[in-house]
Amino acid sequence: MRGQARLLVNTPEIELWPGSLLRARGNRDARALARARRVLRRKRDGRYLAAELPEGLVPLVPHLLREPGIDEAKRALGLEPARARAGIDVIPALPLHRLQARLDRLGIDPAAYAERTGLVLVAEPAWLAFAGRDRFGRALWLRVDAARAWRNLRDAALRDGIVLDSISGYRSHDYQLGIFERKLARGQDVDDILTVNAAPGYSEHHSGIALDIGTPGEPPAEESFEGTPAFDWLGRYAGEHGFTMSYPRDNPHGIVYEPWHWRFSR
Ligand SMILES: [Zn+2]
Repeated sequence: MRGQARLLVNTPEIELWPGSLLRARGNRDARALARARRVLRRKRDGRYLAAELPEGLVPLVPHLLREPGIDEAKRALGLEPARARAGIDVIPALPLHRLQARLDRLGIDPAAYAERTGLVLVAEPAWLAFAGRDRFGRALWLRVDAARAWRNLRDAALRDGIVLDSISGYRSHDYQLGIFERKLARGQDVDDILTVNAAPGYSEHHSGIALDIGTPGEPPAEESFEGTPAFDWLGRYAGEHGFTMSYPRDNPHGIVYEPWHWRFSR
């Protein structure tokens, strides 16, 4: 896999992962993943659906061809990632119509929700770049310019003796929907869930330019992060690298103060 671009190619229901970045969950998956150039992964629950091997696409689930979104994912397999890389300034966004149908199913009225929170629908980019591992050892995906900026930010901090790590970067609409589905299955209702989780489609994390930053020894995504030297360093220098805090105290969106959540803008 050396030298191959490490990109996440995105389709509405299925992601195409570089096989080298995935961890096997069973012997059968392990054998396939070890040889896979790319792996089709269901966004809603992270399930590995198929491995792209030299001999062709090998299903990892029964009834692969009945999987929603499989045709689009197979079409995306045919696109050369290098071609996608050429268009850094025009990274296409996925359509939003599917999301709106699902918000309807959850009983969330997009207009009323947007009005109440001041948030807007955020489209997912068609591809993302590998930005290293997060604190939990998972692949961190960001838009390619944000990925580069994050590496620079982290390196600059390190030169000043500050260790930054990432908690979470890009998250898909389906991932967010999956959170809702799991909580609904446990008996919570949508209004309860909305007090803790942004509605699917409305999180800045969908854009690939936002990430949650932490520092070792601090719990993830807690207000106590503001008391750390890492936060102090970010306050002084993050702006030089294009990062701003999205939700400072008393932000106009009425969103809870999130000292860990930063957004890259060119
Ligand atoms: Zn965040």
